[in-house]
Amino acid sequence: MESGTAGTSTETVGATNGASAAAETIEVHNPATGALIETIPVDSPAAVAETVARVRANQADWEAMGIEGRYHWLGKLRDWLLDNSERVLDTMQMETGKVRADASNEPAYLADLINFYGTKASKFIGEQSIRPHSPLLAGKKLQVQYRPYPVVGIISPWNFPLILALGDAIPALQAGAAVVIKPSEFTPLGLIEVIEAWKREIGGPDVLDCVQGTGDTGGALVDAVDFIQFTGSDRTGRKVMARAAETLTPVSLELGGKDPMIVLADADVDRAANAAAWGGMMNSGQICISVERIYVEEPVYDEFVAKLTKEVGGLRQGSDDARNPKDVGSMTSPNQAAIVEDHVNDALANGARATTGGKRLDGPGDYFEPTVLVDVDHSMKVMRDETFGPVVGVMKVRDSEEALRLANDTRYGLSGSVFGEKARAEAVARRVECGAVNVNDVLVNYLASDVPMGGWKESGIGFRHGEPGIKKYCRSESLVISRFGGKREPTWYPYTKGRRRLVSKIAQAFNARDIKRRLGMRG
Ligand code: NAD
Repeated sequence: MESGTAGTSTETVGATNGASAAAETIEVHNPATGALIETIPVDSPAAVAETVARVRANQADWEAMGIEGRYHWLGKLRDWLLDNSERVLDTMQMETGKVRADASNEPAYLADLINFYGTKASKFIGEQSIRPHSPLLAGKKLQVQYRPYPVVGIISPWNFPLILALGDAIPALQAGAAVVIKPSEFTPLGLIEVIEAWKREIGGPDVLDCVQGTGDTGGALVDAVDFIQFTGSDRTGRKVMARAAETLTPVSLELGGKDPMIVLADADVDRAANAAAWGGMMNSGQICISVERIYVEEPVYDEFVAKLTKEVGGLRQGSDDARNPKDVGSMTSPNQAAIVEDHVNDALANGARATTGGKRLDGPGDYFEPTVLVDVDHSMKVMRDETFGPVVGVMKVRDSEEALRLANDTRYGLSGSVFGEKARAEAVARRVECGAVNVNDVLVNYLASDVPMGGWKESGIGFRHGEPGIKKYCRSESLVISRFGGKREPTWYPYTKGRRRLVSKIAQAFNARDIKRRLGMRG
């Protein structure tokens, strides 16, 4: 494996990048240089089924370890990630083209998530005793236990290769499931490195593995597992859900976004502009919750655009290392760079203006200039479809009502942000139609694992983080336990007139909420 520099990936199988459909290897490239890093074999559907069967055989023992036993092993993974973070960052940079600062989020987030679910799992999925709601059930003890789906399959994208693969594996493993991950064909290397470490350096139980390939491998995984956690585009999400429907396999889908930011006239304009620059350009804008569209109240529009343009125009772009930091790296996938170029060209051709940036750069490496577009409107792709690149479009609005109307004028609903005086900004934030809104901040909701994160509308089904982020990997099993014996219950056979009347009188007495009906009279 080539070492040191930032990374890209391309592959030679399947339809995803248009290369040969029959090939049986994936070529992973460094997107900052275009150099080939490594060629890895693709897993056939039979190999996927074999991997799933192998971890399935070990799942019962893993589940039997209990929450603490499983946290013990996941804690070893946390320690490994912390001890080997520089090595992990090298691989992340090499296959994604991220700058070092962006890559450094991956091991840190995972270590925090292991601790979060390790310490909260008992509260979220521990056995519950429930008081019966009706005196008719007073003789019953009610318990609910949460049992994992035996094998969870995870299909992940290329923009955060570890966070979006292991970040969903951690709660599934903590819940007691075995996990098989299919990472993106563009960025499989970091995950392979961590899984190898789980097996050989940590010596973890054989309940975590990965399989490699494109859509065919992903489809085979859907067929073989008991639950699918998918993160990727809404286009692929629809295919995954349709395939899972054939086996009635439940899915959780974390899909794309077109996140709005609203800047009110009473906002701290410096903070809002700096946040927009970071929230729009971080990871080259390849984040599902990136700031993509900005609506600014008229009195501060000119000041905001000038400050945003200055901040974005000053960003240092290129590949970096720990000693010479840069701000914005390369695009990770050539397909995505082409989409970004198309959106920007469409906007410019229809009357938009770039106050900074606006072009894809000549190689080596796949770079798109950090770009601010003004004079945009909702007829343009850049304000309507997910761009997923270092580009923001800014519109002037009369007031917060117009800002909200435009912010909600989208088929997506992942997240958003509102900047302004606290109380007013919070009131506006409550009306944005999406899964999470940051007030006077951007992107930070992803680090607040305490609260659910997921998409409304076409941005997804289900949630990660918080209680839903682990409970979704479990099936509830209700235990209704009779406290007392006796040969028969009054509701059992044989049916007689007297017993039927007794049962209905008792039911009436308990269900009625007024004295007359309790006594069997009409109201
Ligand atoms: P993608 O949909 O092209 O691919 C995602 C994964 O699905 C890859 O592993 C791919 O190999 C696999 N796949 C492709 N076809 C498949 C099929 N027919 N059956 C099963 N699996 C198949 O997405 P991408 O380009 O890798 O990622 C970018 C997208 O991911 C963006 O839309 C982005 O917004 C979204 N995303 C969402 C979140 C979130 O949390 N909501 C997070 C990150 C990225």
